[in-house]
Amino acid sequence: MSANALIVQKFGGSSLATMEHVRRVAERVARDRQRGCRLVVVVSAMGDATDDLLELLGQLNARPVAREVDMLLATGEQASAALMASALQALGCSAVSLTGWQAGVATDSVHRKASIVRIDTSRILRELEDGRVVIVAGFQGLSADAEITTLGRGGSDTTAVALAAALKADSCEIYSDVDGVYTADPRVVPDARRLPLISYEEMMEMAHLGAQVLQIRAVECALLNRVTIVAKSTFTEGPGTCITEVDAVEERALARAVAQERDVAKLALMGVADRPGVAHRVFAALAEAHVNVDMIIQSQPRDGLNDIAFTVSRDELPSAEEMARAAGRELGAAAVVAEQGYGKVSLVGAGMASNPGVAARMFGALASAGVNIEMISTSEIKISCLVRAQHVDHAARALHAAFGLGQQAALGRA
Ligand code: ADP
Ligand code: ASP
Ligand code: MG
Repeated sequence: MSANALIVQKFGGSSLATMEHVRRVAERVARDRQRGCRLVVVVSAMGDATDDLLELLGQLNARPVAREVDMLLATGEQASAALMASALQALGCSAVSLTGWQAGVATDSVHRKASIVRIDTSRILRELEDGRVVIVAGFQGLSADAEITTLGRGGSDTTAVALAAALKADSCEIYSDVDGVYTADPRVVPDARRLPLISYEEMMEMAHLGAQVLQIRAVECALLNRVTIVAKSTFTEGPGTCITEVDAVEERALARAVAQERDVAKLALMGVADRPGVAHRVFAALAEAHVNVDMIIQSQPRDGLNDIAFTVSRDELPSAEEMARAAGRELGAAAVVAEQGYGKVSLVGAGMASNPGVAARMFGALASAGVNIEMISTSEIKISCLVRAQHVDHAARALHAAFGLGQQAALGRA
Protein backbone atom coordinates (compact mmCIF):
# COMPACT_ATOMS: atom_id res chain seq x y z
CA MET A 1 0.00 0.00 0.00
CA SER A 2 1.53 3.34 -1.02
CA ALA A 3 2.15 5.92 1.71
CA ASN A 4 -0.52 8.27 0.36
CA ALA A 5 -3.15 5.51 -0.02
CA LEU A 6 -6.73 6.34 0.91
CA ILE A 7 -8.13 3.70 3.24
CA VAL A 8 -11.64 3.35 4.65
CA GLN A 9 -11.63 1.45 7.93
CA LYS A 10 -14.75 0.44 9.85
CA PHE A 11 -14.79 -0.49 13.52
CA GLY A 12 -17.96 -2.17 14.83
CA GLY A 13 -19.57 -2.10 18.24
CA SER A 14 -17.66 -5.21 19.31
CA SER A 15 -14.40 -3.29 18.82
CA LEU A 16 -15.59 -0.25 20.76
CA ALA A 17 -17.18 -1.84 23.81
CA THR A 18 -15.29 0.20 26.45
CA MET A 19 -13.14 3.38 26.63
CA GLU A 20 -10.11 1.09 26.73
CA HIS A 21 -11.24 -0.46 23.43
CA VAL A 22 -11.78 3.00 21.90
CA ARG A 23 -8.27 4.01 22.99
CA ARG A 24 -6.74 0.87 21.47
CA VAL A 25 -8.56 1.45 18.19
CA ALA A 26 -7.39 5.08 18.20
CA GLU A 27 -3.78 3.90 18.70
CA ARG A 28 -4.13 1.56 15.74
CA VAL A 29 -5.60 4.32 13.55
CA ALA A 30 -2.88 6.79 14.65
CA ARG A 31 -0.21 4.21 13.66
CA ASP A 32 -1.68 3.88 10.17
CA ARG A 33 -1.86 7.67 9.90
CA GLN A 34 1.80 7.95 10.85
CA ARG A 35 2.66 5.68 7.93
CA GLY A 36 1.19 8.41 5.73
CA CYS A 37 -2.15 6.82 4.79
CA ARG A 38 -5.17 9.07 4.38
CA LEU A 39 -7.88 7.59 6.56
CA VAL A 40 -11.67 7.67 6.71
CA VAL A 41 -12.80 5.75 9.79
CA VAL A 42 -16.42 4.63 10.10
CA VAL A 43 -17.59 3.78 13.61
CA SER A 44 -20.62 1.94 15.02
CA ALA A 45 -22.26 2.55 18.35
CA MET A 46 -20.27 1.24 21.33
CA GLY A 47 -20.86 -2.37 22.35
CA ASP A 48 -24.58 -3.04 22.77
CA ALA A 49 -25.51 0.66 22.76
CA THR A 50 -28.03 0.24 19.94
CA ASP A 51 -29.83 -2.59 21.74
CA ASP A 52 -29.75 -0.59 24.98
CA LEU A 53 -31.35 2.43 23.29
CA LEU A 54 -34.05 0.20 21.78
CA GLU A 55 -34.70 -1.30 25.19
CA LEU A 56 -35.11 2.16 26.76
CA LEU A 57 -37.50 3.19 24.05
CA GLY A 58 -39.49 -0.02 24.55
CA GLN A 59 -40.05 0.95 28.18
CA LEU A 60 -41.93 4.04 27.01
CA ASN A 61 -43.66 2.85 23.86
CA ALA A 62 -44.20 -0.72 22.62
CA ARG A 63 -44.75 0.42 19.00
CA PRO A 64 -42.55 3.53 18.57
CA VAL A 65 -42.77 5.54 15.36
CA ALA A 66 -39.87 4.63 13.03
CA ARG A 67 -38.83 8.27 12.64
CA GLU A 68 -38.26 8.62 16.37
CA VAL A 69 -36.39 5.29 16.48
CA ASP A 70 -33.98 6.70 13.90
CA MET A 71 -33.58 9.97 15.81
CA LEU A 72 -32.62 7.96 18.87
CA LEU A 73 -30.43 5.25 17.32
CA ALA A 74 -28.36 7.70 15.27
CA THR A 75 -27.04 9.16 18.53
CA GLY A 76 -25.18 5.91 19.33
CA GLU A 77 -22.87 6.25 16.34
CA GLN A 78 -22.48 10.00 16.87
CA ALA A 79 -21.23 9.41 20.41
CA SER A 80 -18.66 6.87 19.16
CA ALA A 81 -17.46 9.24 16.44
CA ALA A 82 -16.88 12.14 18.84
CA LEU A 83 -15.15 9.83 21.34
CA MET A 84 -12.90 8.38 18.64
CA ALA A 85 -11.95 11.81 17.28
CA SER A 86 -11.15 12.98 20.83
CA ALA A 87 -9.07 9.86 21.55
CA LEU A 88 -7.06 10.51 18.39
CA GLN A 89 -6.59 14.18 19.24
CA ALA A 90 -5.30 13.14 22.68
CA LEU A 91 -2.67 11.08 20.85
CA GLY A 92 -1.63 14.16 18.87
CA CYS A 93 -3.33 12.95 15.69
CA SER A 94 -5.43 15.54 13.87
CA ALA A 95 -9.00 14.23 13.47
CA VAL A 96 -12.57 15.40 13.03
CA SER A 97 -15.86 13.57 13.62
CA LEU A 98 -18.78 13.90 11.20
CA THR A 99 -22.36 12.74 11.44
CA GLY A 100 -23.69 10.80 8.44
CA TRP A 101 -25.26 13.92 6.97
CA GLN A 102 -22.18 16.10 7.59
CA ALA A 103 -20.30 13.41 5.66
CA GLY A 104 -22.75 13.84 2.76
CA VAL A 105 -24.61 10.51 3.08
CA ALA A 106 -28.00 10.97 1.35
CA THR A 107 -30.58 8.19 1.67
CA ASP A 108 -34.14 7.42 0.63
CA SER A 109 -36.81 7.99 3.27
CA VAL A 110 -37.47 4.41 4.46
CA HIS A 111 -36.90 4.81 8.19
CA ARG A 112 -34.93 2.00 9.91
CA LYS A 113 -34.02 0.39 6.55
CA ALA A 114 -32.91 3.34 4.45
CA SER A 115 -30.73 2.87 1.36
CA ILE A 116 -27.90 5.21 0.47
CA VAL A 117 -28.75 7.00 -2.77
CA ARG A 118 -25.78 9.35 -3.08
CA ILE A 119 -22.71 10.53 -1.21
CA ASP A 120 -21.43 14.07 -1.58
CA THR A 121 -17.79 13.57 -0.65
CA SER A 122 -16.74 17.23 -0.77
CA ARG A 123 -16.59 17.77 3.02
CA ILE A 124 -14.65 14.54 3.60
CA LEU A 125 -12.20 15.41 0.82
CA ARG A 126 -11.67 18.88 2.29
CA GLU A 127 -10.93 17.44 5.73
CA LEU A 128 -8.51 14.88 4.24
CA GLU A 129 -6.82 17.66 2.30
CA ASP A 130 -6.30 19.49 5.61
CA GLY A 131 -4.49 16.41 6.95
CA ARG A 132 -7.22 15.16 9.31
CA VAL A 133 -8.35 11.63 9.96
CA VAL A 134 -12.08 11.75 9.19
CA ILE A 135 -14.28 9.82 11.60
CA VAL A 136 -17.75 9.17 10.19
CA ALA A 137 -20.73 8.04 12.26
CA GLY A 138 -21.89 4.87 10.48
CA PHE A 139 -25.43 3.52 9.99
CA GLN A 140 -27.06 6.89 9.28
CA GLY A 141 -27.89 9.44 6.63
CA LEU A 142 -30.29 12.19 5.70
CA SER A 143 -33.33 11.82 3.43
CA ALA A 144 -34.35 14.38 0.78
CA ASP A 145 -36.85 15.87 3.27
CA ALA A 146 -34.05 16.39 5.83
CA GLU A 147 -35.04 13.52 8.13
CA ILE A 148 -32.42 11.42 9.91
CA THR A 149 -32.53 7.82 8.70
CA THR A 150 -30.73 4.63 9.70
CA LEU A 151 -29.60 1.84 7.39
CA GLY A 152 -30.82 -1.32 9.14
CA ARG A 153 -29.00 -3.37 11.79
CA GLY A 154 -25.32 -3.78 10.98
CA GLY A 155 -25.61 -0.77 8.64
CA SER A 156 -22.22 0.78 9.45
CA ASP A 157 -20.69 -1.88 7.20
CA THR A 158 -22.69 -0.38 4.34
CA THR A 159 -21.61 3.16 5.23
CA ALA A 160 -17.98 1.99 4.96
CA VAL A 161 -18.35 0.23 1.62
CA ALA A 162 -20.41 3.07 0.10
CA LEU A 163 -17.79 5.59 1.23
CA ALA A 164 -14.98 3.43 -0.18
CA ALA A 165 -16.83 3.33 -3.52
CA ALA A 166 -17.62 7.07 -3.57
CA LEU A 167 -14.06 8.04 -2.58
CA LYS A 168 -12.48 5.42 -4.89
CA ALA A 169 -10.50 4.29 -1.85
CA ASP A 170 -7.50 2.01 -2.26
CA SER A 171 -8.81 -0.34 0.40
CA CYS A 172 -11.93 -1.01 2.50
CA GLU A 173 -11.17 -2.74 5.79
CA ILE A 174 -13.93 -3.95 8.12
CA TYR A 175 -12.66 -4.71 11.62
CA SER A 176 -14.55 -6.76 14.22
CA ASP A 177 -13.92 -9.24 17.03
CA VAL A 178 -13.21 -12.09 14.57
CA ASP A 179 -10.19 -12.22 12.27
CA GLY A 180 -12.20 -12.86 9.12
CA VAL A 181 -15.09 -14.80 7.65
CA TYR A 182 -15.23 -18.39 8.86
CA THR A 183 -16.79 -21.58 7.51
CA ALA A 184 -19.40 -21.12 10.29
CA ASP A 185 -19.91 -18.77 13.23
CA PRO A 186 -16.82 -19.57 15.34
CA ARG A 187 -18.84 -18.87 18.50
CA VAL A 188 -21.10 -21.80 17.62
CA VAL A 189 -18.86 -24.19 15.69
CA PRO A 190 -15.49 -24.47 17.48
CA ASP A 191 -13.60 -26.05 14.56
CA ALA A 192 -14.76 -23.44 12.02
CA ARG A 193 -11.94 -22.35 9.71
CA ARG A 194 -11.08 -18.85 8.46
CA LEU A 195 -11.60 -18.48 4.71
CA PRO A 196 -8.77 -16.52 3.07
CA LEU A 197 -11.06 -15.60 0.16
CA ILE A 198 -14.80 -15.66 -0.52
CA SER A 199 -16.84 -14.49 -3.51
CA TYR A 200 -19.32 -11.62 -3.26
CA GLU A 201 -22.17 -13.99 -4.13
CA GLU A 202 -21.33 -16.51 -1.41
CA MET A 203 -20.78 -13.76 1.15
CA MET A 204 -24.11 -12.18 0.20
CA GLU A 205 -25.89 -15.49 0.78
CA MET A 206 -24.11 -15.97 4.09
CA ALA A 207 -25.05 -12.47 5.25
CA HIS A 208 -28.62 -13.01 4.11
CA LEU A 209 -28.76 -16.32 5.95
CA GLY A 210 -27.67 -14.92 9.28
CA ALA A 211 -23.85 -14.62 9.34
CA GLN A 212 -23.80 -11.16 10.91
CA VAL A 213 -20.08 -10.63 10.29
CA LEU A 214 -21.04 -8.37 7.33
CA GLN A 215 -24.34 -6.70 6.48
CA ILE A 216 -25.86 -7.98 3.24
CA ARG A 217 -26.34 -4.46 1.83
CA ALA A 218 -22.63 -3.82 2.33
CA VAL A 219 -21.72 -6.86 0.24
CA GLU A 220 -24.26 -5.89 -2.44
CA CYS A 221 -22.79 -2.41 -2.58
CA ALA A 222 -19.27 -3.89 -2.82
CA LEU A 223 -20.32 -6.14 -5.71
CA LEU A 224 -22.02 -3.30 -7.60
CA ASN A 225 -19.02 -1.01 -7.23
CA ARG A 226 -16.31 -3.70 -7.39
CA VAL A 227 -14.95 -2.76 -3.97
CA THR A 228 -12.81 -5.50 -2.43
CA ILE A 229 -13.61 -5.78 1.28
CA VAL A 230 -11.05 -7.12 3.72
CA ALA A 231 -12.59 -8.43 6.97
CA LYS A 232 -10.03 -8.36 9.80
CA SER A 233 -9.72 -8.45 13.56
CA THR A 234 -9.30 -5.20 15.48
CA PHE A 235 -7.05 -6.66 18.15
CA THR A 236 -4.92 -9.25 16.38
CA GLU A 237 -2.77 -9.04 13.25
CA GLY A 238 -3.41 -11.32 10.31
CA PRO A 239 -4.47 -11.37 6.67
CA GLY A 240 -8.23 -11.65 7.36
CA THR A 241 -10.66 -12.57 4.59
CA CYS A 242 -10.87 -10.96 1.16
CA ILE A 243 -14.40 -10.64 -0.22
CA THR A 244 -13.93 -10.24 -3.93
CA GLU A 245 -14.76 -11.26 -7.54
CA VAL A 246 -15.74 -14.89 -8.09
CA ASP A 247 -12.97 -15.45 -10.67
CA ALA A 248 -10.36 -14.79 -8.05
CA VAL A 249 -11.75 -17.61 -5.89
CA GLU A 250 -9.83 -20.56 -7.32
CA GLU A 251 -12.23 -23.28 -6.34
CA ARG A 252 -15.97 -23.38 -6.53
CA ALA A 253 -16.77 -25.27 -3.37
CA LEU A 254 -19.67 -27.65 -3.13
CA ALA A 255 -20.16 -26.38 0.38
CA ARG A 256 -18.21 -23.32 1.47
CA ALA A 257 -19.86 -22.50 4.77
CA VAL A 258 -22.76 -22.99 7.15
CA ALA A 259 -24.89 -20.08 8.33
CA GLN A 260 -27.50 -20.02 11.02
CA GLU A 261 -30.12 -17.70 12.33
CA ARG A 262 -32.40 -17.76 15.35
CA ASP A 263 -35.35 -15.45 15.91
CA VAL A 264 -37.41 -16.66 12.98
CA ALA A 265 -41.22 -16.65 13.19
CA LYS A 266 -43.68 -18.62 11.08
CA LEU A 267 -47.09 -17.43 9.92
CA ALA A 268 -49.70 -19.57 8.19
CA LEU A 269 -52.99 -18.76 6.52
CA MET A 270 -54.97 -21.98 6.62
CA GLY A 271 -57.72 -22.92 4.19
CA VAL A 272 -57.64 -20.07 1.67
CA ALA A 273 -59.16 -20.39 -1.82
CA ASP A 274 -56.93 -21.91 -4.50
CA ARG A 275 -57.35 -19.14 -7.08
CA PRO A 276 -55.27 -16.40 -8.77
CA GLY A 277 -54.68 -13.27 -6.69
CA VAL A 278 -54.73 -14.88 -3.23
CA ALA A 279 -50.96 -14.98 -2.74
CA HIS A 280 -50.69 -11.51 -4.25
CA ARG A 281 -53.20 -10.13 -1.71
CA VAL A 282 -51.13 -11.51 1.18
CA PHE A 283 -47.62 -10.64 0.03
CA ALA A 284 -48.32 -7.25 -1.62
CA ALA A 285 -49.49 -5.88 1.74
CA LEU A 286 -46.37 -7.22 3.45
CA ALA A 287 -44.10 -5.75 0.78
CA GLU A 288 -45.77 -2.37 1.08
CA ALA A 289 -45.01 -2.38 4.79
CA HIS A 290 -41.35 -3.31 4.01
CA VAL A 291 -41.66 -6.64 5.85
CA ASN A 292 -39.03 -9.06 4.55
CA VAL A 293 -40.71 -12.38 3.85
CA ASP A 294 -38.23 -15.21 3.68
CA MET A 295 -39.39 -18.80 3.07
CA ILE A 296 -42.81 -19.39 1.50
CA ILE A 297 -44.66 -22.69 1.19
CA GLN A 298 -48.03 -23.28 -0.43
CA SER A 299 -49.63 -26.68 0.18
CA GLN A 300 -51.16 -28.91 -2.49
CA PRO A 301 -54.79 -27.82 -2.97
CA ARG A 302 -57.50 -30.04 -1.51
CA ASP A 303 -61.21 -29.34 -2.09
CA GLY A 304 -60.29 -26.01 -3.72
CA LEU A 305 -58.44 -24.77 -0.62
CA ASN A 306 -54.79 -24.59 0.38
CA ASP A 307 -52.54 -23.29 3.15
CA ILE A 308 -49.91 -20.60 2.69
CA ALA A 309 -47.10 -20.49 5.24
CA PHE A 310 -44.17 -18.09 5.36
CA THR A 311 -41.41 -16.93 7.67
CA VAL A 312 -40.31 -13.48 8.84
CA SER A 313 -37.78 -12.35 11.42
CA ARG A 314 -39.15 -12.21 14.96
CA ASP A 315 -38.83 -8.39 15.03
CA GLU A 316 -41.24 -8.16 12.14
CA LEU A 317 -43.80 -10.59 13.55
CA PRO A 318 -46.16 -7.97 15.08
CA SER A 319 -46.66 -6.06 11.82
CA ALA A 320 -46.61 -9.24 9.69
CA GLU A 321 -49.23 -10.85 11.90
CA GLU A 322 -51.47 -7.80 11.76
CA MET A 323 -51.34 -7.86 7.98
CA ALA A 324 -51.77 -11.64 7.71
CA ARG A 325 -54.87 -11.44 9.93
CA ALA A 326 -56.37 -8.63 7.81
CA ALA A 327 -55.69 -10.64 4.63
CA GLY A 328 -57.05 -13.81 6.30
CA ARG A 329 -60.33 -12.06 7.18
CA GLU A 330 -60.71 -10.69 3.68
CA LEU A 331 -59.90 -14.03 2.04
CA GLY A 332 -62.08 -16.08 4.41
CA ALA A 333 -59.16 -18.11 5.81
CA ALA A 334 -60.15 -20.89 8.23
CA ALA A 335 -57.38 -19.74 10.62
CA VAL A 336 -54.25 -17.59 10.82
CA VAL A 337 -51.48 -19.11 12.93
CA ALA A 338 -48.42 -17.19 14.20
CA GLU A 339 -45.58 -19.08 15.91
CA GLN A 340 -42.22 -17.98 17.29
CA GLY A 341 -39.30 -20.18 18.27
CA TYR A 342 -37.88 -21.10 14.89
CA GLY A 343 -34.44 -20.81 13.38
CA LYS A 344 -32.78 -21.50 10.06
CA VAL A 345 -29.68 -23.43 9.17
CA SER A 346 -28.18 -23.12 5.70
CA LEU A 347 -25.40 -24.51 3.58
CA VAL A 348 -23.73 -22.13 1.09
CA GLY A 349 -21.47 -22.98 -1.85
CA ALA A 350 -21.16 -21.78 -5.44
CA GLY A 351 -20.48 -25.32 -6.69
CA MET A 352 -23.83 -26.58 -5.40
CA ALA A 353 -25.88 -25.89 -8.53
CA SER A 354 -24.06 -28.58 -10.53
CA ASN A 355 -24.10 -31.20 -7.75
CA PRO A 356 -27.53 -32.73 -7.21
CA GLY A 357 -26.46 -34.86 -4.24
CA VAL A 358 -25.90 -31.96 -1.84
CA ALA A 359 -29.49 -31.63 -0.62
CA ALA A 360 -29.76 -35.35 0.11
CA ARG A 361 -26.48 -35.26 2.03
CA MET A 362 -27.64 -32.23 4.01
CA PHE A 363 -31.00 -33.79 4.92
CA GLY A 364 -29.21 -37.02 5.86
CA ALA A 365 -26.88 -35.15 8.22
CA LEU A 366 -29.81 -33.40 9.90
CA ALA A 367 -31.72 -36.67 10.22
CA SER A 368 -28.72 -38.36 11.86
CA ALA A 369 -28.51 -35.42 14.27
CA GLY A 370 -32.21 -35.91 15.13
CA VAL A 371 -33.22 -32.50 13.77
CA ASN A 372 -36.67 -32.19 12.21
CA ILE A 373 -36.94 -30.01 9.07
CA GLU A 374 -40.08 -27.87 8.89
CA MET A 375 -39.52 -25.94 5.63
CA ILE A 376 -36.88 -26.02 2.91
CA SER A 377 -35.79 -23.39 0.42
CA THR A 378 -33.07 -23.61 -2.19
CA SER A 379 -31.25 -21.37 -4.65
CA GLU A 380 -28.31 -22.03 -6.97
CA ILE A 381 -25.83 -21.50 -4.18
CA LYS A 382 -27.64 -22.38 -0.95
CA ILE A 383 -30.02 -24.79 0.78
CA SER A 384 -31.85 -23.60 3.90
CA CYS A 385 -33.92 -25.55 6.39
CA LEU A 386 -36.31 -24.12 8.95
CA VAL A 387 -35.87 -25.96 12.26
CA ARG A 388 -36.87 -25.33 15.88
CA ALA A 389 -34.68 -22.59 17.38
CA GLN A 390 -33.26 -24.89 20.07
CA HIS A 391 -31.84 -27.19 17.35
CA VAL A 392 -30.07 -24.52 15.32
CA ASP A 393 -26.58 -24.72 16.87
CA HIS A 394 -26.58 -28.50 16.99
CA ALA A 395 -27.73 -28.62 13.34
CA ALA A 396 -24.98 -26.16 12.30
CA ARG A 397 -22.29 -28.30 13.95
CA ALA A 398 -23.69 -31.46 12.34
CA LEU A 399 -23.65 -29.90 8.84
CA HIS A 400 -20.19 -28.42 9.32
CA ALA A 401 -18.87 -31.87 10.22
CA ALA A 402 -20.81 -33.76 7.52
CA PHE A 403 -19.33 -31.57 4.77
CA GLY A 404 -15.83 -31.60 6.26
CA LEU A 405 -15.68 -27.81 6.38
CA GLY A 406 -13.28 -27.69 9.29
CA GLN A 407 -10.49 -29.40 7.38
CA GLN A 408 -8.17 -27.63 4.96
CA ALA A 409 -8.69 -30.28 2.27
CA ALA A 410 -12.44 -30.19 2.68
CA LEU A 411 -14.44 -33.25 1.66
CA GLY A 412 -17.04 -30.84 0.40
CA ARG A 413 -15.06 -29.68 -2.64
CA ALA A 414 -16.61 -30.05 -6.09
P1 ADP B 1 -19.33 -5.68 14.77
O1 ADP B 1 -19.91 -5.34 16.11
O2 ADP B 1 -17.87 -5.37 14.67
O3 ADP B 1 -20.12 -5.14 13.61
P2 ADP B 1 -20.60 -8.23 14.51
O4 ADP B 1 -20.98 -8.72 15.86
O5 ADP B 1 -21.66 -7.58 13.68
O6 ADP B 1 -19.35 -7.26 14.66
O7 ADP B 1 -19.94 -9.41 13.64
C1 ADP B 1 -18.95 -10.23 14.19
C2 ADP B 1 -19.57 -11.52 14.70
O8 ADP B 1 -20.14 -12.25 13.61
C3 ADP B 1 -18.58 -12.48 15.31
O9 ADP B 1 -18.39 -12.26 16.67
C4 ADP B 1 -19.18 -13.86 15.02
O10 ADP B 1 -19.71 -14.47 16.18
C5 ADP B 1 -20.31 -13.57 14.05
N1 ADP B 1 -20.31 -14.47 12.90
C6 ADP B 1 -21.39 -15.16 12.45
N2 ADP B 1 -21.08 -15.93 11.42
C7 ADP B 1 -19.75 -15.75 11.17
C8 ADP B 1 -18.84 -16.28 10.21
N3 ADP B 1 -19.22 -17.17 9.28
N4 ADP B 1 -17.56 -15.87 10.26
C9 ADP B 1 -17.15 -14.96 11.20
N5 ADP B 1 -17.96 -14.43 12.13
C10 ADP B 1 -19.26 -14.81 12.13
N1 ASP C 1 -25.16 0.15 15.72
C1 ASP C 1 -25.94 -0.43 14.65
C2 ASP C 1 -26.38 -1.84 15.04
O1 ASP C 1 -26.12 -2.27 16.14
C3 ASP C 1 -25.21 -0.43 13.34
C4 ASP C 1 -23.97 -1.26 13.27
O2 ASP C 1 -23.48 -1.76 14.29
O3 ASP C 1 -23.43 -1.42 12.18
O4 ASP C 1 -27.02 -2.49 14.27
MG1 MG D 1 -21.86 -5.80 12.56
